[in-house]
Amino acid sequence: MNTEVTRDQIMAWEDQHESGVYGKQPLVLVRGAGARIWDMDGTEYIDCVGGHGAAAMGHAHPAVVVAVQAQAERLFLAPNGFFNDMRAQLLAELVKVAPSGLDRVFLCNSGTEAVEAALKFARLGTGRTKIISTMRGFHGRTMGSVSTTWRKEYRQPFEPLIPDVGFVPFDRLERMEKAVDDATAAVIIEVIQGEGGVNPASAEFLHGTQALCHERGALLIVDEIQTGIGRTGKLFACEHFGLEPDLLTVAKSLAGGVPIGATLIGTRVGEIPGHVHGSTFGGNPLSCAAALATLQTMVADRLPERAATLGERLLDGFRSIDAPVIREVRGKGLMVGIELRERSGGYLAALAEQGVLALPAGSTVMRFLPPLVITEADIDTVIAKVGLVLA
Ligand SMILES: *Cc1c(COP(=O)(O)O)cnc(C)c1O
Repeated sequence: MNTEVTRDQIMAWEDQHESGVYGKQPLVLVRGAGARIWDMDGTEYIDCVGGHGAAAMGHAHPAVVVAVQAQAERLFLAPNGFFNDMRAQLLAELVKVAPSGLDRVFLCNSGTEAVEAALKFARLGTGRTKIISTMRGFHGRTMGSVSTTWRKEYRQPFEPLIPDVGFVPFDRLERMEKAVDDATAAVIIEVIQGEGGVNPASAEFLHGTQALCHERGALLIVDEIQTGIGRTGKLFACEHFGLEPDLLTVAKSLAGGVPIGATLIGTRVGEIPGHVHGSTFGGNPLSCAAALATLQTMVADRLPERAATLGERLLDGFRSIDAPVIREVRGKGLMVGIELRERSGGYLAALAEQGVLALPAGSTVMRFLPPLVITEADIDTVIAKVGLVLA
């Protein structure tokens, strides 16, 4: 940390020069370890924002730190027109642990890019353009992915968007049935909607949608950018249901906090011709080394199992809070939402005052995406502090 720069100066620079697209909380975060994060003035927080879910490994996980340090000293860049040892090992490892049938991968640098690639590959693979998404779905902010994102505040200012995108109510199979036809290139869904309010889908909806896609020649894109890599109690949320998507997107937690995105590609997509897509930084050795270390550690340390156990504890704890403002507690693993009968903003600010950071999902849901390495004691503290704030 540069001690020459004051806290006020930092906040002034960001307020003045940042684009303006983000609302900000008055904290200057400078250091993290595991599930703890520190403000510049030394105040400690339990971090249930967790980099919007990207910090599944916790902050400064030793395995990720060592992998990044070693790779930084060796090689940052190896363009995709060449082979690279780290990229090759990551691809092999990712395909090995992925839902069956996904045996090719396009590597990029963020979630929205992974969705863009999935949309493009779906158009290529089917020769169709129609995309069905879900109400309250969130798939990213670039022109293609934002076209499939529900909230109109995100979409409307940028119209015209990509054409032929329709939205159906989430978890309503009979509506999906009406929407998917033989002009549909793909259906894009989350297994548990994240930003849309931590809304889990039923097995019936997921399997029914998959069957509809097969029947009508459409591809199923499952967006696991938030649920992916351990968070819900399995490496992929698809595994809870035995889903076999044609395209699966991951990003956030895949590289232990280092930027990455990946689009996993199944056989129904068909051949992808050369030169139709690409990325300069996609598959760079630094991100690949971080992702390889993350996957290996997730499996060796059984972090998905840990997410399942601690997630139950968190859900049970929240459900035992007796507060009329709570409408519903829901989630899976360490992806948990508390839906309130009021707007969540004031409660989230009060919770931060109590030393726990959490994030909103929509206007009335408090969302908790802690690192999977969080301790039981910290889970219990989170439950107690939430109880204090909501009671
Ligand atoms: C965060 C998120 C995205 C977008 O990822 P970025 O890395 O922010 O572009 C897309 N889909 C889902 C489900 C997400 O949670």
